[in-house]
This record gives sequence, C-alpha cells and structure tokens, in this order.
Amino acid sequence: MSVNFVFDSSLDDTTKRLCHEYWSYVSPSDYIAHLELLCYDHNTETDVLFATLAKCQVYLDDVHCEYCGRPYPLDVPADIPHARRLNSWFCEGCISFSGGQFVLGR
Ligand SMILES: [Zn+2]
Repeated sequence: MSVNFVFDSSLDDTTKRLCHEYWSYVSPSDYIAHLELLCYDHNTETDVLFATLAKCQVYLDDVHCEYCGRPYPLDVPADIPHARRLNSWFCEGCISFSGGQFVLGR
C-alpha cells in the first residue's frame, strides 16, 4: 500500500505512529473496532484521536489528478479501495477551474 503522510509540525513521533496505525487499516468491515482498539492502545478518546488525525493529511501516491498531477487526498481508510477503482480522477481545484467539464469519478 502506498500512502504518503504530511504531518503538522507540532506532532511528535508517538502521535505520528498513531496516524500510521490508523491508516494501516484497510478492511472496511470493522472500522469502529479499529478505532476503539487504537484509543485503547494509546489511552485516548475518540474525539482526541480525530483532532490528532486532522493534523495529518494523507495522500495516495498511486492515484493522481489527471490534469495537475496532485495526489488523491484521503479522509478515511475506506477511501483507499474507492480511489483505486476510479479510472481517472480530477482534484476539486481542477473541477472548479474547468467549470464542470471534468467530472469526478468517471
Ligand atoms: Zn488537479
């Protein structure tokens, strides 16, 4: 799996490891259990977990905008199989720039 991380500069190594563990999840079947286990392992709460994850932007490095080459930004791990199924993808910036000529997820 090829996922790139861009971390907020305030995050320490422990927090970065938490982000990596969160994004190592690929099966869509038991997301909630995955979250609970992460919170348990890191002795944290779900809302703190998501506040932390918000400081970590994640990109798929094998799916790029066909127009500008920007990597696909991920919100949740379940986006990964969805993005891989796309034949082509245009980022939001290019879609609005094109005035709707580019279509998302053709
Ligand atoms: Zn683009």
